[in-house]
Amino acid sequence: MSKSKDKARFRKYVNKNGSIIKPLTEPCWEWTGATDKYGRPRFWLNQKNVLARRAIYLLEGKHPRPAKCIVALCLNRLCLKPSHLTLGTEEEAQAMAIRSTQSKFYPGDLWLIRKVVADDEATVEFVAEAFEISVGLVEQIIAAK
Ligand SMILES: [Zn+2]
Repeated sequence: MSKSKDKARFRKYVNKNGSIIKPLTEPCWEWTGATDKYGRPRFWLNQKNVLARRAIYLLEGKHPRPAKCIVALCLNRLCLKPSHLTLGTEEEAQAMAIRSTQSKFYPGDLWLIRKVVADDEATVEFVAEAFEISVGLVEQIIAAK
């Protein structure tokens, strides 16, 4: 099947008017298709059942290394909005999952904050909201390399 057909099929399962996770003000793009037993979106691509977040990259012709996890800064398991996602390590993905119930920093957070802002993957304001910290603190973290 062609990539454009796969992309069109993928988009059918994405609700761009998903939940608004406070304190964010823009809705998440939520998956309405199949999920696995952990509630993670799955998509059938190239005869494989892949994580829908990984499928976004594959459909764009990018191939993140298998060791890299795709982390949602908004902490919404169903979210596939590109501006809410970033590549991280397994440790960071777990830290993000833990943070959905406790709000504090985990190993890798400072690296992640610097990376997403440096790579223009998220604004300082977005990171501040996602980590529940002030914009000033995010700026301090970035400056203190
Ligand atoms: Zn989101």
